[in-house]
Amino acid sequence: MTFVVEQIQVGQMENFTYLVIDKDEKEIAVIDPSWDLEKIFEIIKKNSYHVKYIINTHSHFDHILGNEQIATITKCQIIQHENSKDKHDISVKDKDIIKVGKITMEVISTPGHSKDSICLIINSQIIITGDTLFVGNCGRIDLPGGDINDMYESLFGKIIKLNDDLIVYPGHNYGNKPVSTIGEEKKNNYVLSPRTKNEFIELMY
Ligand SMILES: [Zn+2]
Repeated sequence: MTFVVEQIQVGQMENFTYLVIDKDEKEIAVIDPSWDLEKIFEIIKKNSYHVKYIINTHSHFDHILGNEQIATITKCQIIQHENSKDKHDISVKDKDIIKVGKITMEVISTPGHSKDSICLIINSQIIITGDTLFVGNCGRIDLPGGDINDMYESLFGKIIKLNDDLIVYPGHNYGNKPVSTIGEEKKNNYVLSPRTKNEFIELMY
């Protein structure tokens, strides 16, 4: 199977939209569509891709703004975490599997930045981390739905235990490079340095 994840920077807030593509079956999922939809539609059209799903890493506006337009035009279904109050067709929870073509995406529930934050592990090789983990930082916990205890559990109970080789594709281009790995982040990302929960809370406030 040939699969690719295409990273597309969109809008003024350094957001990333991702296309998860099964090249053989020409089936794709669009992750976090927001701005610059013409770029997305151009790729879809040029390659005759079938859009099966939109998947949102969480329901903040800058990650869902493009949902309606893409869903209307492609007739795809929208997937979000079950805690989301935004309009969607399929609710997922921790450890659920999403199939696109022959691609397997595992849902990891990672609340902290928001109640409905998820990461997606793609074919055990790539992780799309949304606003849970950026290159060199983690997402804000001071927005509605943010919770520092949840963030600690997500980072230290889940993210840090993942395979070092996993390639990290974050929700925004906030770091010194657009892509990283779990291993590099464990070494270089100050929020992932070993800390007790109290030490983490002190660090973040
Ligand atoms: Zn967000």
